[in-house]
Amino acid sequence: MRICRQCQCEMLEGFDVKVEGAGYGIKISKGTGIFANRIEKPKVAICPKCGEISLYVESLDKITEDKC
Ligand SMILES: [Zn+2]
Repeated sequence: MRICRQCQCEMLEGFDVKVEGAGYGIKISKGTGIFANRIEKPKVAICPKCGEISLYVESLDKITEDKC
């Protein structure tokens, strides 16, 4: 469950990211070129109260560095 940063309301999760007009969506990656390490297609959570959106990935085990 994700909580809105603005109003602490429970957010609706699982929305897909789409780029209007292109239809390819976006991917989160690290590095550039052919060595880019694709991590995961991001998902979106939306606050039903104020419209705040939050990007997140579901497969955090694919990220091996930069853990906080
Ligand atoms: Zn909110």
